[in-house]
Amino acid sequence: MAALRAACYVPRVFTPDAVLIERGAEETPMARRCRERLPDVPFTVVEDRQAARVAIGDDFAAAKRRLVLAEHRGSFLGHCPAGTRGLRCCNYLMMNFATNCPMDCGYCFLQEYLAENLPLTAYVNPGAALAEVARVLDKHGDRRFRIGTGELADSLALDPLTDLSADIVPFFAARSNALLELKTKTDAIDGLVALDPKDRVVVSWSLAPEAAVALAERGTTPIAARLAAARRVAAAGYKVGIHFDPMIEHAGWEEGYRDLVATLAAALPAARVAWVSMGALRFSSGLRRAVRARFPGSPLLTGEQVRSADGKWRDFQPLRVAMYRLVRRYVEEALPDVPLFLCMETPEVWQRVFGAAPLGEQALGARLAAR
Ligand code: SF4
Repeated sequence: MAALRAACYVPRVFTPDAVLIERGAEETPMARRCRERLPDVPFTVVEDRQAARVAIGDDFAAAKRRLVLAEHRGSFLGHCPAGTRGLRCCNYLMMNFATNCPMDCGYCFLQEYLAENLPLTAYVNPGAALAEVARVLDKHGDRRFRIGTGELADSLALDPLTDLSADIVPFFAARSNALLELKTKTDAIDGLVALDPKDRVVVSWSLAPEAAVALAERGTTPIAARLAAARRVAAAGYKVGIHFDPMIEHAGWEEGYRDLVATLAAALPAARVAWVSMGALRFSSGLRRAVRARFPGSPLLTGEQVRSADGKWRDFQPLRVAMYRLVRRYVEEALPDVPLFLCMETPEVWQRVFGAAPLGEQALGARLAAR
C-alpha cells in the first residue's frame, strides 16, 4: 500500500498536463510565473472560463490535471459553511483564491460542489482579493478575524507555480486584527519559509493515520513529509494548526491515532501549535451519490452513518464521541494547553466530549485568533 501511495503522491511541484489562460490574463504576473515554471507544458489562450470548461469536459479526475488561469469577478470572501443549522462554529471567514485541487480525496466535498464547474482554476487577480479583505479589516478594526484560504482548494498545492504566498503572507503579517490560516495536505512550503509571517500566519495540516490516508486521500503527501514541512514552517516563525478532520474509522484506528499524535508531538513543540481540531467524516446526500459513482464500493460509505439535523450523513454518534474522546485524551497528554475544538458538531456532542457546552462563536473565534 505504501508503494501504491508513493506512486500516486502529487509531488511538491504539481505539473499540470496543460494550462488554459483566459484571454486578457496572458501577461499577468501569475501567468508569467506559471510559464517560466512550466516550460514543457502547453499553454492555450481561451476566450473565457466557460470556454475553458467546455474544453476540459466533465471528467472530474481529468479536470484536476489541467490548470486554468482566469480573473475572478465578484466577492472573494465568505463565511465558513459550519455556521449553519445548529452547528457550533468558530466564526471563520473564507477567502477563495482558487477552486479545485490536484489531489483527489475520496471524501472531498468538491466532488459534489464543483460538479458543474470542474476546472482547477487559480485566480490571476489576488490583489483584488486583498483589497476586499483590507476594506473589511479596516472597517472593523476593533474585531479580530481568522481568515482561511482552504475551502474550495488546497491552500498550497499550486503555490510553487503561482507564488501566491508571496502576496498574501506579507499582507497579513502587516495586519494586527487578522490571522491567516493556510490549510494543506502537501509539503509545498518552500515559498513560505522565505517570508516573515510576524506570528500572523498559521499553516495547518490535515492529518490522519497512514492507513486512513491510503484508504481515502489519493495523491496527497505522505504524513511524514507533511510533518517535516510543519517542522520547517514552525522554525521559520509560523504557527501550526492541526486538523484531525475528517477522522476515519478503520481497522486499528485507536492505535493509528495514538501513534499519529505521538509522532506529531515529537515533531513539533506544543508552543508552536496554534490549535487542534477534530471533525467527523460527513457527506451530503449529493456527495454520497458522487462518491458512489466515482469510487464504487468506497470503504468510506460502508460504515453505519446516520443523517444529522443539517442534512449531512455522519458516523453514528456513539462512534464519533468515542473517537473524539480518545483523540482528545491523546492530544491533551502529548500537547498540553493547546486549544482543542470540534468542527461541524452539535452542542450535544461538544457536551459529551468535553463535559461542557462549547464557547459561544465569538468567544471561541476570539480565543483561537489570539493564539
Ligand atoms: S486535499 Fe482537500 S481540496 Fe484537495 S481533494 Fe483533498 S479534501 Fe479536497
